[in-house]
Amino acid sequence: MIQTDNVVEKMSSDIAVIGSGPGGAVTATLCAEAGHNVLMIEEGPHLPLDSAAHFSHQEMLQKYRGGGVGLALGRAMIAYVEGRCVGGGSEVNRGLYHRTPGVILERWRREFAAEGLMPEALAPHFAACEATARVEFLPGDAPLMSSRLADGARALGWEAIEAQRLFRYGGPSNEGRKQSMSETFVPRFLRAGGRLIAETRVSRLRHSGGKWHLTARRSREGGPARQVEITAENIFVACGAVMTPSLLRRSGIKRNIGNSLRFHPMLKAVALFDTEVNRSDDLDPVHQIKAFEPRFSMGCSFSKRPTLALAMTAHPEHMRLVESDWKRMGIYYVQNMSAPAYVRNLPGFRDPLVVLRHDPAQLAELAEGLKRLCEALFAAGAVRVFPGVEGYPVLHSPSDIAKLPDTVRGTGSSLTSVHVFSSCPMGEDRSKCATDSFGRVQGAEGLYLADASLLCGPTMVNPQGTVMAIAHRNAMHAIERRFH
Ligand SMILES: Cc1cc2nc3c(=O)[nH]c(=O)nc-3n(C[C@H](O)[C@H](O)[C@H](O)COP(=O)(O)OP(=O)(O)OC[C@H]3O[C@@H](n4cnc5c(N)ncnc54)[C@H](O)[C@@H]3O)c2cc1C
Repeated sequence: MIQTDNVVEKMSSDIAVIGSGPGGAVTATLCAEAGHNVLMIEEGPHLPLDSAAHFSHQEMLQKYRGGGVGLALGRAMIAYVEGRCVGGGSEVNRGLYHRTPGVILERWRREFAAEGLMPEALAPHFAACEATARVEFLPGDAPLMSSRLADGARALGWEAIEAQRLFRYGGPSNEGRKQSMSETFVPRFLRAGGRLIAETRVSRLRHSGGKWHLTARRSREGGPARQVEITAENIFVACGAVMTPSLLRRSGIKRNIGNSLRFHPMLKAVALFDTEVNRSDDLDPVHQIKAFEPRFSMGCSFSKRPTLALAMTAHPEHMRLVESDWKRMGIYYVQNMSAPAYVRNLPGFRDPLVVLRHDPAQLAELAEGLKRLCEALFAAGAVRVFPGVEGYPVLHSPSDIAKLPDTVRGTGSSLTSVHVFSSCPMGEDRSKCATDSFGRVQGAEGLYLADASLLCGPTMVNPQGTVMAIAHRNAMHAIERRFH
Protein backbone atom coordinates (compact mmCIF):
# COMPACT_ATOMS: atom_id res chain seq x y z
CA MET A 1 0.00 0.00 0.00
CA ILE A 2 1.28 3.50 -0.79
CA GLN A 3 1.43 5.76 2.24
CA THR A 4 0.75 9.45 1.77
CA ASP A 5 2.62 12.08 3.77
CA ASN A 6 0.53 14.89 5.16
CA VAL A 7 3.17 17.25 3.80
CA VAL A 8 2.03 19.19 0.78
CA GLU A 9 4.84 20.39 -1.44
CA LYS A 10 4.05 23.66 -3.24
CA MET A 11 5.66 24.78 -6.46
CA SER A 12 5.05 27.52 -8.98
CA SER A 13 6.29 28.46 -12.43
CA ASP A 14 5.37 30.61 -15.42
CA ILE A 15 4.76 27.50 -17.46
CA ALA A 16 4.09 23.90 -16.48
CA VAL A 17 4.54 21.15 -19.06
CA ILE A 18 2.90 17.87 -18.07
CA GLY A 19 4.60 14.88 -19.70
CA SER A 20 8.19 14.64 -20.97
CA GLY A 21 7.76 12.60 -24.16
CA PRO A 22 8.68 14.04 -27.58
CA GLY A 23 5.82 16.58 -27.45
CA GLY A 24 6.46 17.76 -23.89
CA ALA A 25 10.26 17.77 -24.06
CA VAL A 26 10.41 19.86 -27.25
CA THR A 27 7.81 22.33 -25.92
CA ALA A 28 9.47 22.70 -22.50
CA THR A 29 12.88 23.28 -24.11
CA LEU A 30 11.69 26.11 -26.37
CA CYS A 31 9.80 27.81 -23.53
CA ALA A 32 12.81 27.59 -21.17
CA GLU A 33 15.17 28.92 -23.86
CA ALA A 34 12.78 31.83 -24.44
CA GLY A 35 13.50 32.88 -20.85
CA HIS A 36 10.42 31.49 -19.09
CA ASN A 37 10.47 29.74 -15.76
CA VAL A 38 9.39 26.23 -16.80
CA LEU A 39 8.57 23.14 -14.76
CA MET A 40 8.28 19.79 -16.59
CA ILE A 41 6.37 17.15 -14.65
CA GLU A 42 6.69 13.46 -15.51
CA GLU A 43 4.84 10.54 -13.97
CA GLY A 44 7.51 7.94 -14.71
CA PRO A 45 11.10 7.63 -13.47
CA HIS A 46 14.18 9.42 -14.85
CA LEU A 47 16.47 6.61 -16.00
CA PRO A 48 19.43 6.41 -18.36
CA LEU A 49 18.67 5.24 -21.89
CA ASP A 50 20.56 1.99 -21.25
CA SER A 51 19.15 1.20 -17.79
CA ALA A 52 17.72 -2.01 -19.29
CA ALA A 53 18.25 -3.97 -22.51
CA HIS A 54 16.06 -2.77 -25.37
CA PHE A 55 12.72 -4.65 -25.58
CA SER A 56 13.55 -6.68 -22.46
CA HIS A 57 11.08 -7.61 -19.74
CA GLN A 58 13.02 -5.37 -17.36
CA GLU A 59 12.65 -2.41 -19.73
CA MET A 60 8.90 -2.98 -19.89
CA LEU A 61 8.66 -2.99 -16.09
CA GLN A 62 10.81 0.16 -15.80
CA LYS A 63 9.65 2.32 -18.67
CA TYR A 64 6.26 1.21 -20.04
CA ARG A 65 2.82 2.18 -18.77
CA GLY A 66 1.25 -0.75 -16.94
CA GLY A 67 4.32 -2.90 -17.63
CA GLY A 68 3.36 -2.87 -21.34
CA VAL A 69 -0.30 -3.78 -21.04
CA GLY A 70 -2.85 -1.46 -22.62
CA LEU A 71 -6.05 -2.69 -24.22
CA ALA A 72 -8.58 -0.99 -26.49
CA LEU A 73 -11.79 -2.96 -26.08
CA GLY A 74 -14.44 -3.59 -28.70
CA ARG A 75 -15.63 -6.26 -31.11
CA ALA A 76 -12.04 -6.16 -32.34
CA MET A 77 -9.42 -5.43 -29.66
CA ILE A 78 -6.03 -3.78 -29.91
CA ALA A 79 -3.25 -4.42 -27.38
CA TYR A 80 -1.20 -1.20 -27.28
CA VAL A 81 1.83 0.05 -25.38
CA GLU A 82 3.06 3.49 -24.28
CA GLY A 83 6.19 4.77 -22.56
CA ARG A 84 5.99 5.98 -18.96
CA CYS A 85 9.32 7.54 -18.02
CA VAL A 86 11.27 10.74 -18.64
CA GLY A 87 11.34 10.88 -22.45
CA GLY A 88 8.09 8.89 -22.82
CA GLY A 89 7.83 6.67 -25.88
CA SER A 90 11.11 7.96 -27.33
CA GLU A 91 13.01 5.94 -24.70
CA VAL A 92 11.50 2.59 -25.63
CA ASN A 93 10.82 2.96 -29.34
CA ARG A 94 13.03 2.07 -32.31
CA GLY A 95 13.34 5.66 -33.47
CA LEU A 96 12.26 4.96 -37.05
CA TYR A 97 11.82 8.40 -38.53
CA HIS A 98 9.83 10.17 -41.21
CA ARG A 99 8.61 13.66 -41.86
CA THR A 100 4.81 13.75 -42.28
CA PRO A 101 3.79 12.76 -45.83
CA GLY A 102 2.19 15.58 -47.89
CA VAL A 103 -0.92 13.49 -48.56
CA ILE A 104 -1.59 13.23 -44.81
CA LEU A 105 -1.08 16.95 -44.20
CA GLU A 106 -3.40 17.73 -47.08
CA ARG A 107 -6.09 15.48 -45.50
CA TRP A 108 -5.71 17.26 -42.14
CA ARG A 109 -6.02 20.68 -43.78
CA ARG A 110 -9.10 19.59 -45.71
CA GLU A 111 -10.97 17.62 -43.04
CA PHE A 112 -10.10 19.67 -39.94
CA ALA A 113 -9.42 23.12 -41.42
CA ALA A 114 -6.00 22.90 -39.74
CA GLU A 115 -3.97 25.99 -40.65
CA GLY A 116 -0.32 26.20 -41.64
CA LEU A 117 0.23 22.52 -42.28
CA MET A 118 1.92 22.83 -45.68
CA PRO A 119 5.08 20.70 -45.98
CA GLU A 120 7.18 23.81 -46.70
CA ALA A 121 5.80 25.58 -43.61
CA LEU A 122 6.65 22.61 -41.38
CA ALA A 123 10.08 21.95 -42.92
CA PRO A 124 11.98 24.41 -40.66
CA HIS A 125 10.42 22.79 -37.59
CA PHE A 126 11.45 19.31 -38.69
CA ALA A 127 14.94 20.62 -39.45
CA ALA A 128 15.20 22.32 -36.04
CA CYS A 129 14.21 19.10 -34.22
CA GLU A 130 16.59 17.04 -36.38
CA ALA A 131 19.45 19.38 -35.42
CA THR A 132 19.08 18.28 -31.78
CA ALA A 133 17.68 14.74 -32.10
CA ARG A 134 19.87 13.56 -34.98
CA VAL A 135 18.47 11.39 -37.76
CA GLU A 136 20.71 8.99 -39.70
CA PHE A 137 20.68 6.13 -42.17
CA LEU A 138 22.52 2.94 -41.23
CA PRO A 139 26.24 3.50 -41.78
CA GLY A 140 26.75 0.26 -43.75
CA ASP A 141 24.71 -2.62 -45.10
CA ALA A 142 21.39 -3.28 -43.39
CA PRO A 143 20.87 -6.59 -41.56
CA LEU A 144 19.84 -9.27 -44.04
CA MET A 145 16.41 -9.79 -42.50
CA SER A 146 15.77 -6.11 -43.28
CA SER A 147 17.14 -5.90 -46.83
CA ARG A 148 15.45 -9.19 -47.72
CA LEU A 149 12.05 -7.52 -47.28
CA ALA A 150 13.04 -4.80 -49.72
CA ASP A 151 14.41 -7.41 -52.18
CA GLY A 152 11.09 -9.28 -52.03
CA ALA A 153 9.10 -6.10 -52.62
CA ARG A 154 11.25 -5.02 -55.55
CA ALA A 155 10.98 -8.48 -57.13
CA LEU A 156 7.23 -7.86 -57.16
CA GLY A 157 7.65 -4.35 -58.58
CA TRP A 158 6.70 -2.64 -55.28
CA GLU A 159 8.47 0.42 -53.87
CA ALA A 160 10.53 -0.23 -50.73
CA ILE A 161 12.83 2.10 -48.78
CA GLU A 162 15.38 2.13 -46.00
CA ALA A 163 13.94 4.34 -43.24
CA GLN A 164 16.12 6.71 -41.24
CA ARG A 165 16.27 6.49 -37.48
CA LEU A 166 16.64 8.97 -34.63
CA PHE A 167 20.09 7.60 -34.06
CA ARG A 168 23.77 8.54 -33.97
CA TYR A 169 25.67 5.55 -35.20
CA GLY A 170 29.27 5.10 -34.12
CA GLY A 171 31.48 3.09 -31.79
CA PRO A 172 33.39 -0.17 -32.41
CA SER A 173 30.44 -2.05 -33.94
CA ASN A 174 28.38 0.99 -34.88
CA GLU A 175 26.10 0.35 -31.93
CA GLY A 176 25.74 4.15 -31.51
CA ARG A 177 23.04 5.77 -29.37
CA LYS A 178 19.40 6.36 -29.93
CA GLN A 179 18.43 10.03 -29.95
CA SER A 180 15.73 9.71 -27.32
CA MET A 181 14.47 12.73 -25.40
CA SER A 182 16.58 11.87 -22.33
CA GLU A 183 19.65 12.08 -24.60
CA THR A 184 18.68 15.21 -26.52
CA PHE A 185 15.90 17.65 -25.61
CA VAL A 186 15.74 16.92 -21.86
CA PRO A 187 19.44 17.84 -21.30
CA ARG A 188 18.93 20.92 -23.50
CA PHE A 189 15.91 21.88 -21.37
CA LEU A 190 17.94 21.48 -18.15
CA ARG A 191 20.83 23.51 -19.58
CA ALA A 192 18.35 26.32 -20.30
CA GLY A 193 17.44 26.39 -16.59
CA GLY A 194 14.26 24.28 -16.79
CA ARG A 195 13.22 22.21 -13.78
CA LEU A 196 12.15 18.60 -14.10
CA ILE A 197 10.26 16.60 -11.51
CA ALA A 198 9.91 12.89 -12.25
CA GLU A 199 7.76 10.24 -10.55
CA THR A 200 5.03 12.84 -10.18
CA ARG A 201 1.59 12.26 -11.63
CA VAL A 202 -0.79 15.17 -12.20
CA SER A 203 -4.33 14.12 -11.37
CA ARG A 204 -6.37 17.30 -11.87
CA LEU A 205 -6.24 20.81 -13.36
CA ARG A 206 -8.22 23.79 -12.12
CA HIS A 207 -8.27 27.40 -13.34
CA SER A 208 -8.93 30.18 -10.87
CA GLY A 209 -7.68 33.69 -10.17
CA GLY A 210 -6.03 33.82 -13.62
CA LYS A 211 -3.79 30.82 -12.84
CA TRP A 212 -3.78 27.08 -13.31
CA HIS A 213 -3.63 24.92 -10.20
CA LEU A 214 -2.37 21.39 -10.66
CA THR A 215 -2.88 18.64 -8.13
CA ALA A 216 -0.22 15.95 -8.33
CA ARG A 217 1.25 13.10 -6.37
CA ARG A 218 4.94 12.34 -6.15
CA SER A 219 5.69 8.70 -5.37
CA ARG A 220 9.37 7.84 -5.21
CA GLU A 221 9.99 4.12 -5.01
CA GLY A 222 10.49 3.06 -1.39
CA GLY A 223 9.47 6.45 0.04
CA PRO A 224 6.09 7.80 1.12
CA ALA A 225 3.94 9.48 -1.54
CA ARG A 226 3.63 13.25 -1.28
CA GLN A 227 0.94 15.56 -2.48
CA VAL A 228 2.27 18.33 -4.74
CA GLU A 229 0.40 21.51 -5.61
CA ILE A 230 1.67 23.49 -8.58
CA THR A 231 0.53 26.84 -9.88
CA ALA A 232 1.37 28.16 -13.34
CA GLU A 233 0.10 30.84 -15.65
CA ASN A 234 0.16 28.64 -18.73
CA ILE A 235 0.15 24.89 -19.04
CA PHE A 236 0.94 22.46 -21.82
CA VAL A 237 -0.59 19.01 -21.44
CA ALA A 238 1.60 16.41 -23.17
CA CYS A 239 0.68 13.15 -21.45
CA GLY A 240 0.33 11.13 -24.67
CA ALA A 241 -2.79 10.44 -26.73
CA VAL A 242 -4.53 8.29 -24.11
CA MET A 243 -3.58 10.04 -20.88
CA THR A 244 -4.04 13.64 -22.12
CA PRO A 245 -7.80 13.24 -22.72
CA SER A 246 -8.08 11.30 -19.48
CA LEU A 247 -6.53 14.16 -17.46
CA LEU A 248 -8.58 16.82 -19.26
CA ARG A 249 -11.87 14.98 -18.85
CA ARG A 250 -11.16 14.34 -15.17
CA SER A 251 -10.68 18.13 -14.87
CA GLY A 252 -14.05 18.82 -16.51
CA ILE A 253 -12.62 19.81 -19.93
CA LYS A 254 -14.51 17.66 -22.42
CA ARG A 255 -15.33 19.45 -25.66
CA ASN A 256 -14.11 17.17 -28.49
CA ILE A 257 -11.72 15.58 -26.01
CA GLY A 258 -11.15 11.83 -26.15
CA ASN A 259 -13.68 11.00 -28.88
CA SER A 260 -11.34 10.30 -31.78
CA LEU A 261 -8.29 8.33 -30.57
CA ARG A 262 -6.72 6.44 -33.48
CA PHE A 263 -4.15 3.65 -33.76
CA HIS A 264 -2.01 2.01 -36.38
CA PRO A 265 -3.27 -1.55 -35.72
CA MET A 266 -0.61 -4.06 -36.67
CA LEU A 267 -0.52 -7.75 -37.66
CA LYS A 268 2.75 -9.66 -37.60
CA ALA A 269 4.13 -12.63 -39.49
CA VAL A 270 7.31 -14.63 -38.89
CA ALA A 271 9.26 -15.77 -41.97
CA LEU A 272 11.62 -18.74 -42.02
CA PHE A 273 14.21 -18.23 -44.78
CA ASP A 274 16.32 -20.67 -46.76
CA THR A 275 19.56 -19.14 -45.39
CA GLU A 276 20.71 -17.27 -42.29
CA VAL A 277 19.39 -13.68 -42.10
CA ASN A 278 19.53 -12.90 -38.37
CA ARG A 279 22.60 -12.46 -36.16
CA SER A 280 22.66 -11.59 -32.48
CA ASP A 281 24.80 -8.48 -33.12
CA ASP A 282 22.73 -7.16 -36.05
CA LEU A 283 21.56 -3.54 -35.83
CA ASP A 284 17.80 -2.85 -35.83
CA PRO A 285 16.07 -3.58 -39.16
CA VAL A 286 14.95 -0.52 -41.13
CA HIS A 287 13.29 -1.44 -44.44
CA GLN A 288 9.67 -0.60 -45.20
CA ILE A 289 7.36 -1.24 -48.16
CA LYS A 290 5.64 1.94 -49.35
CA ALA A 291 3.74 0.63 -52.39
CA PHE A 292 0.33 0.41 -50.69
CA GLU A 293 0.34 3.60 -48.62
CA PRO A 294 -1.85 5.31 -47.50
CA ARG A 295 -4.00 2.13 -47.24
CA PHE A 296 -1.43 0.03 -45.37
CA SER A 297 2.31 -0.06 -44.76
CA MET A 298 4.75 -2.86 -44.03
CA GLY A 299 8.12 -3.24 -42.37
CA CYS A 300 10.46 -5.31 -40.22
CA SER A 301 10.25 -5.77 -36.46
CA PHE A 302 12.91 -6.25 -33.80
CA SER A 303 13.66 -9.99 -34.15
CA LYS A 304 15.89 -11.19 -31.33
CA ARG A 305 15.16 -14.61 -29.85
CA PRO A 306 12.75 -13.62 -27.03
CA THR A 307 10.68 -11.47 -29.41
CA LEU A 308 10.65 -14.29 -31.97
CA ALA A 309 9.29 -16.62 -29.30
CA LEU A 310 6.56 -14.09 -28.52
CA ALA A 311 5.72 -13.68 -32.20
CA MET A 312 5.37 -17.46 -32.60
CA THR A 313 2.76 -17.88 -29.84
CA ALA A 314 0.04 -18.29 -32.50
CA HIS A 315 1.88 -21.46 -33.62
CA PRO A 316 2.95 -23.22 -30.39
CA GLU A 317 3.56 -26.52 -32.21
CA HIS A 318 6.42 -24.83 -34.14
CA MET A 319 7.92 -22.95 -31.21
CA ARG A 320 11.00 -25.21 -31.11
CA LEU A 321 12.08 -23.61 -34.43
CA VAL A 322 13.01 -20.51 -32.44
CA GLU A 323 15.62 -22.57 -30.58
CA SER A 324 16.97 -24.43 -33.59
CA ASP A 325 16.55 -21.94 -36.46
CA TRP A 326 16.28 -18.39 -35.11
CA LYS A 327 19.13 -17.30 -37.38
CA ARG A 328 16.89 -18.05 -40.38
CA MET A 329 13.88 -16.21 -38.93
CA GLY A 330 12.61 -12.63 -38.92
CA ILE A 331 9.45 -10.81 -37.77
CA TYR A 332 7.55 -8.51 -40.15
CA TYR A 333 4.43 -6.39 -39.81
CA VAL A 334 1.65 -4.77 -41.76
CA GLN A 335 -0.37 -1.89 -40.30
CA ASN A 336 -3.19 0.41 -41.32
CA MET A 337 -5.35 3.10 -39.71
CA SER A 338 -7.92 2.17 -37.05
CA ALA A 339 -11.46 3.42 -36.58
CA PRO A 340 -11.81 6.05 -33.83
CA ALA A 341 -11.84 5.00 -30.18
CA TYR A 342 -13.26 6.75 -27.09
CA VAL A 343 -11.21 7.50 -23.98
CA ARG A 344 -13.32 7.64 -20.80
CA ASN A 345 -12.51 7.68 -17.08
CA LEU A 346 -14.23 5.18 -14.81
CA PRO A 347 -14.97 6.06 -11.18
CA GLY A 348 -12.39 4.44 -8.90
CA PHE A 349 -9.96 3.49 -11.71
CA ARG A 350 -6.61 5.21 -12.19
CA ASP A 351 -6.25 4.63 -15.92
CA PRO A 352 -9.02 5.25 -18.46
CA LEU A 353 -11.14 2.86 -20.48
CA VAL A 354 -10.46 2.84 -24.24
CA VAL A 355 -13.32 1.61 -26.44
CA LEU A 356 -12.73 0.99 -30.14
CA ARG A 357 -15.51 1.38 -32.70
CA HIS A 358 -16.04 -1.51 -35.10
CA ASP A 359 -14.95 -0.96 -38.69
CA PRO A 360 -15.30 -4.03 -40.93
CA ALA A 361 -13.73 -2.24 -43.92
CA GLN A 362 -10.57 -1.44 -41.93
CA LEU A 363 -10.28 -5.06 -40.76
CA ALA A 364 -10.72 -6.34 -44.33
CA GLU A 365 -8.05 -3.92 -45.53
CA LEU A 366 -5.64 -5.21 -42.89
CA ALA A 367 -6.36 -8.80 -43.96
CA GLU A 368 -5.48 -7.81 -47.51
CA GLY A 369 -2.29 -6.22 -46.19
CA LEU A 370 -1.32 -9.46 -44.46
CA LYS A 371 -1.66 -11.33 -47.75
CA ARG A 372 0.53 -8.79 -49.56
CA LEU A 373 3.11 -9.04 -46.76
CA CYS A 374 3.23 -12.84 -47.12
CA GLU A 375 3.69 -12.42 -50.89
CA ALA A 376 6.68 -10.15 -50.29
CA LEU A 377 8.18 -12.62 -47.81
CA PHE A 378 7.96 -15.54 -50.24
CA ALA A 379 9.42 -13.33 -52.98
CA ALA A 380 12.25 -12.58 -50.50
CA GLY A 381 13.12 -16.27 -50.16
CA ALA A 382 10.95 -17.40 -47.23
CA VAL A 383 10.30 -21.13 -47.18
CA ARG A 384 7.59 -20.88 -44.54
CA VAL A 385 5.51 -18.01 -43.19
CA PHE A 386 3.76 -18.07 -39.79
CA PRO A 387 0.98 -15.44 -39.67
CA GLY A 388 0.69 -14.05 -36.15
CA VAL A 389 -3.00 -14.85 -35.78
CA GLU A 390 -4.24 -17.79 -33.73
CA GLY A 391 -5.84 -20.47 -35.88
CA TYR A 392 -4.25 -19.25 -39.14
CA PRO A 393 -2.41 -21.92 -41.16
CA VAL A 394 1.34 -22.05 -41.66
CA LEU A 395 2.05 -21.07 -45.27
CA HIS A 396 4.52 -23.16 -47.30
CA SER A 397 4.30 -21.41 -50.67
CA PRO A 398 2.66 -18.37 -52.29
CA SER A 399 -0.30 -20.53 -53.34
CA ASP A 400 -1.14 -21.06 -49.62
CA ILE A 401 -1.82 -17.32 -49.24
CA ALA A 402 -5.31 -17.91 -50.69
CA LYS A 403 -6.09 -19.91 -47.51
CA LEU A 404 -5.94 -16.74 -45.39
CA PRO A 405 -9.34 -15.21 -44.46
CA ASP A 406 -10.52 -12.03 -46.20
CA THR A 407 -11.00 -10.23 -42.91
CA VAL A 408 -9.45 -10.13 -39.45
CA ARG A 409 -11.69 -10.79 -36.46
CA GLY A 410 -9.32 -9.14 -33.99
CA THR A 411 -10.79 -11.04 -31.05
CA GLY A 412 -7.57 -12.62 -29.72
CA SER A 413 -4.24 -10.94 -29.12
CA SER A 414 -3.35 -10.63 -32.79
CA LEU A 415 -3.88 -6.87 -33.20
CA THR A 416 -1.24 -4.76 -31.51
CA SER A 417 -0.17 -1.13 -31.78
CA VAL A 418 2.68 1.13 -30.74
CA HIS A 419 1.30 4.27 -32.42
CA VAL A 420 -1.55 6.22 -30.78
CA PHE A 421 -2.77 9.72 -31.68
CA SER A 422 -5.62 12.08 -32.51
CA SER A 423 -7.70 11.98 -29.33
CA CYS A 424 -7.89 15.82 -29.21
CA PRO A 425 -7.44 17.02 -32.80
CA MET A 426 -6.28 20.55 -33.72
CA GLY A 427 -7.87 22.77 -36.37
CA GLU A 428 -10.42 25.48 -36.99
CA ASP A 429 -13.42 23.17 -37.50
CA ARG A 430 -14.96 23.68 -34.08
CA SER A 431 -17.44 20.84 -34.57
CA LYS A 432 -14.66 18.25 -34.25
CA CYS A 433 -11.50 19.98 -33.02
CA ALA A 434 -10.43 20.20 -29.37
CA THR A 435 -7.93 23.01 -29.96
CA ASP A 436 -7.22 25.70 -32.52
CA SER A 437 -4.68 24.98 -35.26
CA PHE A 438 -1.82 25.67 -32.85
CA GLY A 439 -2.82 23.55 -29.86
CA ARG A 440 -4.68 26.10 -27.74
CA VAL A 441 -7.71 24.51 -26.09
CA GLN A 442 -10.99 26.11 -27.14
CA GLY A 443 -12.45 28.35 -24.44
CA ALA A 444 -9.68 27.76 -21.87
CA GLU A 445 -7.25 30.56 -21.14
CA GLY A 446 -3.57 29.54 -21.00
CA LEU A 447 -4.22 25.84 -21.69
CA TYR A 448 -2.39 24.15 -24.58
CA LEU A 449 -1.95 20.57 -25.74
CA ALA A 450 1.46 19.53 -27.07
CA ASP A 451 1.59 15.83 -27.92
CA ALA A 452 0.34 13.11 -30.25
CA SER A 453 -3.25 13.73 -29.17
CA LEU A 454 -3.22 16.90 -31.33
CA LEU A 455 -2.60 15.12 -34.61
CA CYS A 456 -5.76 15.17 -36.75
CA GLY A 457 -5.44 11.50 -37.69
CA PRO A 458 -2.98 8.66 -38.20
CA THR A 459 0.30 9.69 -39.80
CA MET A 460 0.62 6.46 -41.84
CA VAL A 461 4.39 6.66 -41.19
CA ASN A 462 6.16 6.40 -37.79
CA PRO A 463 4.76 9.38 -35.89
CA GLN A 464 7.44 10.72 -33.55
CA GLY A 465 8.88 13.13 -36.13
CA THR A 466 5.42 14.64 -36.65
CA VAL A 467 4.78 14.95 -32.90
CA MET A 468 8.08 16.82 -32.44
CA ALA A 469 7.68 19.15 -35.44
CA ILE A 470 4.09 20.11 -34.52
CA ALA A 471 5.13 20.70 -30.88
CA HIS A 472 8.03 22.86 -32.10
CA ARG A 473 5.81 24.93 -34.38
CA ASN A 474 3.09 25.38 -31.76
CA ALA A 475 5.50 26.31 -28.95
CA MET A 476 7.11 28.97 -31.17
CA HIS A 477 3.66 30.27 -32.09
CA ALA A 478 2.63 30.59 -28.42
CA ILE A 479 5.97 32.19 -27.41
CA GLU A 480 5.83 34.72 -30.27
CA ARG A 481 2.30 35.71 -29.23
CA ARG A 482 3.30 35.91 -25.55
CA PHE A 483 0.68 33.28 -24.79
CA HIS A 484 -2.24 35.49 -25.85
C1 LIG B 1 7.35 0.32 -28.28
C2 LIG B 1 7.15 1.57 -29.11
C3 LIG B 1 7.76 1.65 -30.36
C4 LIG B 1 7.57 2.79 -31.15
N1 LIG B 1 8.29 2.92 -32.31
C5 LIG B 1 8.31 4.11 -32.93
C6 LIG B 1 9.23 4.37 -34.00
O1 LIG B 1 10.08 3.54 -34.33
N2 LIG B 1 9.15 5.59 -34.61
C7 LIG B 1 8.24 6.54 -34.24
O2 LIG B 1 8.19 7.60 -34.88
N3 LIG B 1 7.39 6.32 -33.23
C8 LIG B 1 7.42 5.16 -32.54
N4 LIG B 1 6.61 4.98 -31.47
C9 LIG B 1 5.65 6.04 -31.12
C10 LIG B 1 6.29 7.26 -30.45
O3 LIG B 1 7.13 6.85 -29.39
C11 LIG B 1 5.17 8.17 -29.96
O4 LIG B 1 4.46 8.64 -31.08
C12 LIG B 1 5.68 9.37 -29.16
O5 LIG B 1 6.44 8.96 -28.06
C13 LIG B 1 4.48 10.20 -28.68
O6 LIG B 1 4.97 11.29 -27.98
P1 LIG B 1 4.04 12.08 -26.96
O7 LIG B 1 4.83 13.22 -26.46
O8 LIG B 1 2.73 12.33 -27.59
O9 LIG B 1 3.70 11.06 -25.77
P2 LIG B 1 4.54 10.01 -24.93
O10 LIG B 1 5.82 9.71 -25.57
O11 LIG B 1 3.59 8.91 -24.65
O12 LIG B 1 4.87 10.79 -23.58
C14 LIG B 1 3.88 11.15 -22.65
C15 LIG B 1 4.52 11.19 -21.26
O13 LIG B 1 3.59 11.78 -20.35
C16 LIG B 1 3.66 11.10 -19.11
N5 LIG B 1 2.37 11.26 -18.41
C17 LIG B 1 1.18 10.71 -18.73
N6 LIG B 1 0.23 11.10 -17.87
C18 LIG B 1 0.84 11.92 -16.96
C19 LIG B 1 0.36 12.64 -15.83
N7 LIG B 1 -0.93 12.63 -15.47
N8 LIG B 1 1.26 13.36 -15.12
C20 LIG B 1 2.58 13.42 -15.48
N9 LIG B 1 3.07 12.76 -16.57
C21 LIG B 1 2.20 12.03 -17.31
C22 LIG B 1 3.91 9.66 -19.53
O14 LIG B 1 4.45 8.92 -18.44
C23 LIG B 1 4.84 9.80 -20.71
O15 LIG B 1 6.20 9.71 -20.33
C24 LIG B 1 6.74 3.85 -30.68
C25 LIG B 1 6.13 3.76 -29.43
C26 LIG B 1 6.34 2.64 -28.64
C27 LIG B 1 5.67 2.58 -27.28
